[in-house]
Amino acid sequence: MSEIAIEVRNAVKAFGQGGMAVRALDDVSVDIRKGEFFTLLGPSGCGKTTLLRLIAGFESPTSGQILLDGQDITHLPPNKRPVNTVFQSYALFPHLTVLQNVGFALQMLGKPKAEVAETARQMLALVKLDQMADRKTSQLSGGQQQRVALARALAPKPKVLLLDEPLSALDLKLRKEMQVELKRLQHETGITFIFVTHDQEEALTMSDRIGVMSAGKIQQIGAPREIYVRPVNRFVASFIGETNFLPVTVSGGHVTLKSGIRIAAGNTHRHHGDFTVTVRPEHVRIVPRDAEGAIPATIRDQVYFGTDTHYHLVLGDGTEIVARQQSRTATESGLMNGTTVGVQFAEGATRVLEQ
Ligand code: ATP
Repeated sequence: MSEIAIEVRNAVKAFGQGGMAVRALDDVSVDIRKGEFFTLLGPSGCGKTTLLRLIAGFESPTSGQILLDGQDITHLPPNKRPVNTVFQSYALFPHLTVLQNVGFALQMLGKPKAEVAETARQMLALVKLDQMADRKTSQLSGGQQQRVALARALAPKPKVLLLDEPLSALDLKLRKEMQVELKRLQHETGITFIFVTHDQEEALTMSDRIGVMSAGKIQQIGAPREIYVRPVNRFVASFIGETNFLPVTVSGGHVTLKSGIRIAAGNTHRHHGDFTVTVRPEHVRIVPRDAEGAIPATIRDQVYFGTDTHYHLVLGDGTEIVARQQSRTATESGLMNGTTVGVQFAEGATRVLEQ
């Protein structure tokens, strides 16, 4: 049996005609594995929702294919797909009770009454709302309504659950709680979750793998750590976490800053010419100016964040970078603005980017 739940093959989705046409998806291919928590992450308008809608069957691709368990479902109507969606707006029925809402889809499928009630109760227990079965949904908080929407979507036991920014209407505290809750639900049910968000922290903390999207294309697919540590291009590096960019020249496996100082970078073998190196602020160390291999830098500014302090530094070639250091105690001598210091990059923390 295939390990792939959903396979998107060369999907193109164009809206509008001629000069006004928008390519919401521009040749997207991705394999989503069975039982994984897969997140589509990208800025507003990058095509995340469009891709989800193609998988759900609410839209047909202009070209390309969607496969589920190896079967071509490109032209199958939404109600014939073993796929369900949870939207940001919960779209619950206000005149029905919580239990009736959860059982609704099963009832529509013509399942016997007793079975509908039994499954709906199981689903409510799963989302920890079994005490609220007889309430009207209008009597619930936002977080509780979201749980009902989840229980309702899970009730027909879909093979794939699509979640379109389901937490964005919740306040921060509830959102954090629901993040944990969603992970637990996914783990307990073993259902493949495809989750859409524009929140990079949410993507990093929840996902087994992330597909980073921009301008209708998937830029990179990988586990959170892989995407954070080894971004393939400038877009991915800057969209996920904070980072520094340094203009460099790569030649014969050596990476040189504009000031002529050589730095180490892991992935130089395929590169030759002018490139950009990325290094995360937490991997930039401030050291004494005469330390071995230190790059001279001047402290221009510093911002205190409690645990961390961000130092804005200017290198000899005029490049500005940020170093994130653990804040010093009040009694320790601070680093003063205008001081010349040395900078080192943590081993293995510098990457040459494709673009
Ligand atoms: P958001 O996070 O804002 O929802 P998104 O990444 O989900 O954004 P999509 O909603 O998939 O992005 O939209 C991708 C592009 O396609 C956008 O430029 C959008 O304006 C366009 N688009 C989406 N749906 C339609 C439509 N029905 N008709 C015309 N253009 C559309």
